[in-house]
Amino acid sequence: MAALVFIFIVLNILFPLRINIHYSQIIAASDGTVLHAFLSKDDKWRLKTELKEITPTLKKAIIFKEDKYFYYHPGINPVAIVRAIFNNTIKGKKTSGASTITMQVARMVEPKDRTYVNKLVEMFRSFQLELLYSKDEILQFYLNLVPFGSNIEGVKSASLIYLQQPPDYMSLAQTVALSIIPNRPSSLLIGRDNERIIEERNKWLKRLAADKVFLSEDIEDALLEPFHHERHDVPKLAPHLALRLAASHKNQPIIHSGIDRAKQELSENLAFNYIRRIHYKGITNCAVLIIDNKENSVKVYVGSSDFYNAADNGQVDGIRAIRSPGSTLKPFLYATAFDHGIFTPKMIITDVPQNFSGYRPENFDKRFHGNISIEFALANSLNMPAVKVLDALGLKTFTTVLTAAGFLQIAKDDGKLGLSTILGGCGVTLEQLTALYACLADEGQYRNLKWTENEMEKRVEHKLFSQAAAFMTTEILTKHTRPDLPNNFESSMHLPKVAWKTGTSYGRRDAWSIGYNKEYTIGVWVGNFSGQGIPELTGADIATPLLFDLFNTLSYQSANDWFQMPKHLDFRYVCPESGLIPGEGCEGAVMDYFIPGTSTMQKCTHTKDIFVSVDESYSFCRNCLPEAGYKKKSFPNLPPELISYYEAEHIPYDKVPPHNPACSRIYTENAPAITAPAEGAEYLLEQEEHQQLMLACNADNEVSSVNWYINNKFYASARAHEKIFFEPEAGIIKISCTDDKGRNSDVMIDVKYLE
Ligand SMILES: [Zn+2]
Ligand SMILES: [Zn+2]
Repeated sequence: MAALVFIFIVLNILFPLRINIHYSQIIAASDGTVLHAFLSKDDKWRLKTELKEITPTLKKAIIFKEDKYFYYHPGINPVAIVRAIFNNTIKGKKTSGASTITMQVARMVEPKDRTYVNKLVEMFRSFQLELLYSKDEILQFYLNLVPFGSNIEGVKSASLIYLQQPPDYMSLAQTVALSIIPNRPSSLLIGRDNERIIEERNKWLKRLAADKVFLSEDIEDALLEPFHHERHDVPKLAPHLALRLAASHKNQPIIHSGIDRAKQELSENLAFNYIRRIHYKGITNCAVLIIDNKENSVKVYVGSSDFYNAADNGQVDGIRAIRSPGSTLKPFLYATAFDHGIFTPKMIITDVPQNFSGYRPENFDKRFHGNISIEFALANSLNMPAVKVLDALGLKTFTTVLTAAGFLQIAKDDGKLGLSTILGGCGVTLEQLTALYACLADEGQYRNLKWTENEMEKRVEHKLFSQAAAFMTTEILTKHTRPDLPNNFESSMHLPKVAWKTGTSYGRRDAWSIGYNKEYTIGVWVGNFSGQGIPELTGADIATPLLFDLFNTLSYQSANDWFQMPKHLDFRYVCPESGLIPGEGCEGAVMDYFIPGTSTMQKCTHTKDIFVSVDESYSFCRNCLPEAGYKKKSFPNLPPELISYYEAEHIPYDKVPPHNPACSRIYTENAPAITAPAEGAEYLLEQEEHQQLMLACNADNEVSSVNWYINNKFYASARAHEKIFFEPEAGIIKISCTDDKGRNSDVMIDVKYLE
């Protein structure tokens, strides 16, 4: 005996057991069901059954059928071997009854011809198996490898493909039926031989009853159970996510995703049908990402409207594609500005044409609105105010926030980006955007998305926005009196209670709509993977209807369960003309939010008192104020760009009369700002065309005329807000503008002519 043990130990060292099973990779839904599965490397459906999926019923039935003493023998059953040798040699019958479950596993792991030598190898391997693994693990190997005909192996594959359910949902009748297939997989084909399977099943059920393995009433029920099963396709839900997780979890047989199976299926259908309805417009694809706000896990992942549509590039993953965000980054700019104290929702900003070092943004509707509030600017997604806010906040401050939120392309392009970033002049993915909106739903706390069950350790968390800033932004994004509601939105009666924002990229290539309530954040992108722009493609008209459909179908959020105003946010009265703390002469204060200790405490100066002559034809400064014949009058304190806008559009406003011509004071402040051409600009012109450059400035509102100089030579006189033109010569040119108070400013430009 000692010698045998010694031989085993030596052989065990020389020929160690290596089990290398290629499983089909399974992407499981949050309820554990198979969402998607891939063929194994050797093209089998070999899905791994987990220990918890092996029910006592399955165990009992298999052990009764295959190896009654499984729990008592050391891998081989000596009694059975003696009986088999006796049967084979003395009686001349061929039986293989001596194989234990362990030996069958040994054979399935290393398939070999049936010879007596190989039988000995199998026994040796069985001892090794028993040494390395528990009985339950050996049974698990067996259940994973047992053949069910064709390329189907293992109980889980069989229950999924034939019964369309997980193994732990099988009835007694189904369990026994499946347990008899492996002995004769080609003559008992489910779907073709169902009658014979019922006969065989009932034979075994009666044997189980005779041996009292199961209760007799359970057996009675099982005998009557019909068997109408046939082969089905393996589930193929969430194909883009399945490929993505398979690539990031190589060699992991089961990947437990957080996907909600029912919601995934519904969303895939909604996306598919939606694109089918608008396909005639030339709009061929969309992507949908749904995040559960509580755990920040991905619940729905629709990478394209139809994965199998090759003509429309259905295999491209729209959730990870880098696209232009249009206006969808604006809420985060305003939230950051709230946290920097430079704005509150009711503060006033100008929406008028303006030039930022040569960059002249336009609004989506090509109109300008004059003086507007910050909340109006965001709710109406105006471009010029957004660029102004970004300019005031600083591009770097904003891109730092986006970089912290995992915007990789923006981090990569840092330094190359300009103010147009806020209007979509950068690259983002639907995944990044949706995760950032989820951060607004989570009180400003950014967390990276959770894809699988065991990702809790790898959490990245940043407090990107204060709870107060997130709340104020959410309030603005919840307003339903907005122009970006879809045109003729027929189901506007069922407008879901959500905060949302739309976006349309330059050239109408991308339509976005991203929304959230307390429960979910949903990101929708619609467009063409080819990059083809379509005139009808806007976030409001094309992406929002799908977003609202998704919310109405998937999330029945009650309006009462909404975000609460945080404790450190407060109310104050502000002047409606500026949104600042009312000063002297401010009337009709309105209520606004503010963050105590953070929001600006600047006082309103929306009017200024000016000394004017009695007939209001001249204004005076303290320098030239006469002893009599004057009065004090209040004028609006308008920023220069607004005055230029009023002048250009012929909009009447309360204008300060020209300054007393006899005044001797030398003015130094508020020199005219040259807005065209831009300082340092380079021009490449065509000689033949006689192209002209525009001269324009923003002058102080007491200025009535300016003089223009080209290379220190007088060129022309103009009204303060008049635009004039000149044909430049080649080379570096100095352009100067002097106002009627003698204040001057210069810009230099470089002009080249094409040969
Ligand atoms: Zn005021
Ligand atoms: Zn004066």
